[in-house]
Amino acid sequence: MTRPMTRRTFIVLGGSAAATAATLGTPTWATAAPTVARARLSADPFTLGVASGEPMPDSVVLWTRLAPDPLDGGGMPDRRVPVRWQVATDDRFRHVVRSGTASAAPEWGHSVHVDARGLRSDREYYYRFRADDYLSPVGRTRTAPEAGRRHSHLRWAFASCQNFQDGFYTPHDHLAGEDLAFVAFLGDYIYESLPNPTAVRTHEGTDEPYSLLNYRNRHAQYRTDPSLQAAHAAHPWVVTWDDHEVDNNWADDIPQDPDQQTPEEFRARRIAAFQAYWEHMPLRRRNQPVGPDLQLYRRLEFGDLVSLSVLDTRQYRSDQVETEQEAWDPSRSMTGDAQERWLMGGLRRSDARWNVLANQVMWAQNDRKVGPERVFDFDNWDGYRAQRKRLLTRFADVRNPLIMTGDRHATWACDLKPDFDDEASPVVGAEITGSSISSGGNPNVEAFHETYDPIMAESPHWKFIDNQRGYVVLDADRDRIEAELKVVETVIEPTSPMKTYARFVVEDGVPGITVVDEAARPAAPLYDADRRFIPGPNGPVRLDRGQSYLRD
Ligand code: FE
Ligand code: CA
Repeated sequence: MTRPMTRRTFIVLGGSAAATAATLGTPTWATAAPTVARARLSADPFTLGVASGEPMPDSVVLWTRLAPDPLDGGGMPDRRVPVRWQVATDDRFRHVVRSGTASAAPEWGHSVHVDARGLRSDREYYYRFRADDYLSPVGRTRTAPEAGRRHSHLRWAFASCQNFQDGFYTPHDHLAGEDLAFVAFLGDYIYESLPNPTAVRTHEGTDEPYSLLNYRNRHAQYRTDPSLQAAHAAHPWVVTWDDHEVDNNWADDIPQDPDQQTPEEFRARRIAAFQAYWEHMPLRRRNQPVGPDLQLYRRLEFGDLVSLSVLDTRQYRSDQVETEQEAWDPSRSMTGDAQERWLMGGLRRSDARWNVLANQVMWAQNDRKVGPERVFDFDNWDGYRAQRKRLLTRFADVRNPLIMTGDRHATWACDLKPDFDDEASPVVGAEITGSSISSGGNPNVEAFHETYDPIMAESPHWKFIDNQRGYVVLDADRDRIEAELKVVETVIEPTSPMKTYARFVVEDGVPGITVVDEAARPAAPLYDADRRFIPGPNGPVRLDRGQSYLRD
C-alpha cells in the first residue's frame, strides 16, 4: 500500500530548490557534470514542478521542464543543459536505485522526459532532478503490477477540464492526498480561450495561443499552479487530450472556425499545440510529435486486473454534423479506422478482468431537451451514431467494459446500449462521465437539476447526474469496481473542503452501473446568487442498492 502524500508533505519535501538542497544534502549525486566552460543558470529552473507518468511494470516516465521565466518562453539559454535525475525507494534519497543525466534541448522547450527503466513492479519510488546547483521538488511515483500476473486490487482516479480562468484547482489539493496507482486525465488540460480580466484568474497573453511560444506560455501558466503541481508530484499520470489543448471542437485538420483560420494556419497551429502538449506531459519519447501527428492512443496493463485503453477522439475524427440523420452516416468516425481496429482488437483479445477506456466525450446518448423534441451535442458520440452502435454491439464480447469520460463539466453515470432508443437493446457496459476540476466554475446546482431531472426521467440509461466540481476515484478488486464521486464546495476560493457525494458500483459479469448511495439533495440552494457556497445539511444518505432518487 502506498502512503498517502498530502500537499503539505510536498511543500515540505519540495519547498524551494535551495531549501531542499540544504535539508536533504546531496551526498548521492555524482560530483560533476561535464566541465564545459559556460554560464551557470542564474535562477531556479524548476518553476513548473515535476511529474511522472505512463507507469509500466519496470519503468515510468519522469518529467520536468526547465523554465526560470515560465510565462515568457521559459527564460533558458539557447543551448542544451544537462539535467541529472535520481530514483530512490525513500523520499530522503538514501537508497537511490537508478540515476542518470538527461539533456534538456532548446528545440523541445528544455523539457525532460526520462524513461526510468529497470524498476520493480508495483512499487513506490521517489524521484528528483538537478540542474547546476538547483534541486527540483521531490515527486512520488509507482510502477504498474506485472502485466498478466494475478492482481487483486487497484485504485485510481480520473479527472478532466481545468479551465484556469474558471477557478482554483481545489480538487487537485485533495487528489494529491489520495492513495492511488495513477491518475487518468481525460482532456482539456489547458484552455486556448482569450484572457478574461474579470475572471477568477486570468489567462496569460493577449490572444488565443497560435504559435509554439504561445502554447508553451499557456501550458506553463497552468503548470505554475501549486495544487496541480502537488497532484502531479503525488502520482503517475496517464494523459490524453480533448479539444481545448488545440482549439475548441477541432476535428482532425478542421478548426472550430474554418472561415477564420486557413488550412495552412490551422495545420501550423496544430503542430505548435501538439509539440507544447508533449513538452509538458509525462509521455514517452515514442509519443513525441512528428510534424502534425502525435501518436497518443495506447494501452496500459495493470496485472490481469485492469487493461486501460487510452483514446484519442480528436486527431482522426470526421468533422461535426448538424443533424441526427447525418450522424447515422456509417462512414463517419470518431477514431479513424486504424484506432478502431486497434481498440476493438485489443478489447476482444484482452484477458483483463476490467477493460477500462480513458475517453474524452460522452458515449451515452444525452438529449438536452425535455419532451419528444431531441437536441444533441454532435461533438459527442451522439454525432457518430453508426460507429457508436457498431462498437457497442461488439462490447457484448468484451469483459466488463467501463468507459471513463471527461468534457461534460458534470457527472453522468450511465448504462451503455447499442441502441439507446430501443428498450430491448441490451446493456453492454457502463460509462462514468466525471465532473471537471474547475471548468464551469461553481455550479448552479438548482438550475442544473431543473433542466436535467425531467430529461433524466425520459432517459432510463442515465443512473445519476450532478454538476459539482471534483473527480472520480475507482477502486477495483476481482468482483467489483466501486467508484466515488468526490466534490469540492468551491473553486472560487484558493482552498476548499471535499466530500464524497455519490458511490457507484460495477459488478463483474453484470453489464451496467448501479448507484449505491448519494448525498441528499439539499433542501435549499447550495449556492447564493453570486454562486458562493452556502453550507447546509447535505451529508451522505445511504439508499438501497439500485435505488436512484429519480426513480422513487
Ligand atoms: Fe472542458
Ligand atoms: Ca427530448
